[in-house]
Amino acid sequence: MKQIKKFLLPEDQIPESWYNIQADMPNPTLPPLHPGTKQPIGPADLAPLFPMELIKQEVSKERWIEIPEAVREAYKIWRPTPLYRAYNFEKLLDTPAKIYYKYEGVSPAGSHKPNTAIPQAYYNKMEGVKKITTETGAGQWGSALSFACQMFGIELEVYMVRISYEQKPYRKLMMNTWGAKVFSSPTNLTESGRKILAEDPNSPGSLGIAISEAVERAATNADTKYALGSVLNHVLMHQTVIGLEAVKQMEMAGDFPDIVIAPFGGGSNFAGIAFPFLRLNLQEGKKVRCIAVEPASCPKLTKGEFRYDFGDSVGLTPLLPMYTLGHTFVPDPIHAGGLRYHGAGAIVSQLLKDKVIEAQSVHQLSCFDAGVKFANAEGIIPAPEATHGIAAVVREALKAKEEGTPKTILFNLCGHGHFDMSAYEDYFNGKLVDHELSYDELHQGLNELNTHPLV
Ligand SMILES: *Cc1c(COP(=O)(O)O)cnc(C)c1O
Repeated sequence: MKQIKKFLLPEDQIPESWYNIQADMPNPTLPPLHPGTKQPIGPADLAPLFPMELIKQEVSKERWIEIPEAVREAYKIWRPTPLYRAYNFEKLLDTPAKIYYKYEGVSPAGSHKPNTAIPQAYYNKMEGVKKITTETGAGQWGSALSFACQMFGIELEVYMVRISYEQKPYRKLMMNTWGAKVFSSPTNLTESGRKILAEDPNSPGSLGIAISEAVERAATNADTKYALGSVLNHVLMHQTVIGLEAVKQMEMAGDFPDIVIAPFGGGSNFAGIAFPFLRLNLQEGKKVRCIAVEPASCPKLTKGEFRYDFGDSVGLTPLLPMYTLGHTFVPDPIHAGGLRYHGAGAIVSQLLKDKVIEAQSVHQLSCFDAGVKFANAEGIIPAPEATHGIAAVVREALKAKEEGTPKTILFNLCGHGHFDMSAYEDYFNGKLVDHELSYDELHQGLNELNTHPLV
């Protein structure tokens, strides 16, 4: 019993810089366009919403961007995170593959989201911002940003989709505990909210409406900015602390991954673990396969089109070049709330188009099946989002067995599932079903877009 189970880095090994893959992409991303003029937008267009340092990071081509000391200090609360070898899961799957996982559920909010919430709060603080607004669906992002704003003494207003506000009281209470004000969206505090309520006083809300409310509040108050938890370039870059640590930890394990796997919502936790390994592909000729895994019920990477689309469902944001199902696409109410997004970040979309990364989709029943197996073998109960990655790991591990090739697989266990047990309950009670999207369901959102496919 001399096997090493987890590979731990000391605090002084928290990365000193984030890795910016924009320095190494074979083709750069296309520019975001103004929704009205259809012309590329400049930094001034974004200044009412974001601090200038984040706008600079959004367009930077510098390979390494230094992590401020105060951010590294806050990261110390939970970073470096552990990397485990999944011996028991390997045994349960009876596979010759070696399986490793990086565990981001050790953060105070229980997911990878604080990796970007902390620097976003910090740069706002440095630029004199007193208040931030944001939206949240299931509450992972809202709780991560509440924690971060508390660390840096910034007020936070969270617009939480009404139906989640009512069904998920504990995420809301986490936000309150960290000092955030949480509103059930639509509210009567904004023009956007009042408009919706006038039409339907019982509106259950949506992420699109919540974004409109948060953006409106920031745009109409001089001391207030807005923050987003995924999709944007700077958000993906902040998450690279995950992969930078994992590269070192795989070295400690005397191993190197053939395959890196992560679940995919907007792209931040996938980018976080994959980009530092992709750097080794792009710069040093390594051949790591990086696989983004999405739900079959929201398959923008595997069945969407690469074209300009809005980031929100109302159509307020700049047009972004992305794989999308159309911003009016309404995914099934699957339990992995964090993966119910119609589009993908611009960088990840360009990398997929250029075949630098791969994408797969999985059905939710096989996700929960894999998640329960993993919890039984390894002890940790994964977030429903994370089970998508695990289902793909199972697929690759069984393929390795069939082919008799001892592959090394690394995946990102991006969060724990302690606040999502009702999803497991539905699974155990047989209430979850898989259904194939019809041609019409898949194409309606795309047909409503008045932009041309870019490929
Ligand atoms: C938000 C979230 C996701 C999806 O977002 P990405 O930006 O794609 O990472 C996945 N897993 C968890 C646990 C989340 O909180």
